Amino acid sequence: MKNIAILGSTGSIGTQTLDIVRANDDLQVIALTAGSNIELLEQQIREFKPKVAAVWDEEKAVLLSQRVKDLDVEVYKGMEGLITAATTDDAVIVVLAVVGMVGIRPALAAINAHKDIALANKETLVTAGHIIMQTAAQNNVKILPVDSEHSAIFQCLNGEKREQLSSLLLTASGGPFRNMTREMMKNVTVEDALNHPNWSMGRKITIDSATMVNKGLEIIEAKWLFDVDIDNIRVVVQPQSLIHSMVEFVDGAVMAQLGTPDMRLPIQYALYYPDRRNLKGERIDFSKISSINFQIPDMENFRGLYLAREAGKAGGSLPTVMNAANEKAVAMFLNRKIGFLDITDIMEKCMNRHQNINNPTLEDILSVEQDTYDYIDSLK
Ligand code: NDP
Ligand code: MG
Repeated sequence: MKNIAILGSTGSIGTQTLDIVRANDDLQVIALTAGSNIELLEQQIREFKPKVAAVWDEEKAVLLSQRVKDLDVEVYKGMEGLITAATTDDAVIVVLAVVGMVGIRPALAAINAHKDIALANKETLVTAGHIIMQTAAQNNVKILPVDSEHSAIFQCLNGEKREQLSSLLLTASGGPFRNMTREMMKNVTVEDALNHPNWSMGRKITIDSATMVNKGLEIIEAKWLFDVDIDNIRVVVQPQSLIHSMVEFVDGAVMAQLGTPDMRLPIQYALYYPDRRNLKGERIDFSKISSINFQIPDMENFRGLYLAREAGKAGGSLPTVMNAANEKAVAMFLNRKIGFLDITDIMEKCMNRHQNINNPTLEDILSVEQDTYDYIDSLK
């Protein structure tokens, strides 16, 4: 039996993780958490019977604890609640599937409690990668990638020698606005941006895919996960999303991982690594694929990709500014307060005014995050 905690169980990655649990009777859920969706969290608690549950929204946490009084579950709230769920005694692996920088502190707490991490929450590595990876190494904890590209690279590296790797090739679908100019993207709506061609995901990452900031975040995520210089991480647009990413070795050999777009595969791979389990679902039917196309990414029209890559190259606290600005701007776009192109304009403004801090501490990161939010508020 493998005991798992799922942070962000009500989201896209969280619910697909629970699908894997349903299909495998050797996985046991120990803790579940949500931001505010207590209706779904209650259903999940009744089905999976965790010992611990936590809700970020403190009022909702109180409501939930009343609703599940008949069950043997402790309900916690806020950041302390997330940390309690992340460090619950019996869990051996924590699936980190919350969205945004809110995942940093629970991730560090879980690592310090010697739990392996199945990591979907890329914003945590983007902003605090140096702290997360170092703390994981000190505690002998595995950080297992759930992001499909990083899982693909992880699978391609199986049995290979790290010093013989020459570059990482991150594939990107290009999102719904691939081949559009900035002029054409000026008036796109929230609905247009949420209409991803290949993947069904949470709202924030779907907007990140439309701006291609997601791929920039993934470059930084890959740098930390695989200890590869950003200059050796290239983005390749592959619109069909069949190749999930590739690795090039020193002899020129390129290894790729292919599959239908289904996040349950990388989630399951992280949960059972190094084993593979049967997974029900569609398989690639090569008789039906007429072509696989490649394009180079358009950094001019997709300025967010360029900015995120620059932030990754500079390092220090600049990735935190880039990420925090993006998180806030995406929320504003989803609330129809700003236009689509404003997202990357706000990112750029925030990055331009920032005095970079080398090797930021956790406190620096959280204070730079807050400072970025305050600055954006002052722009209104
Ligand atoms: P969703 O928005 O679908 O789910 C996010 C989860 O986090 C929900 O459980 C949500 O709770 C919870 N949450 C939101 N805000 C807070 C908060 N302040 N405190 C605590 N919990 C909170 O996101 P996704 O599942 O799409 O993405 C999760 C992470 O995985 C992201 O970092 C994303 O980039 C990454 N990822 C996602 C992929 C996908 O296919 N979805 C693919 C690759 C990476 P509630 O439901 O109550 O709001
Ligand atoms: Mg991805």
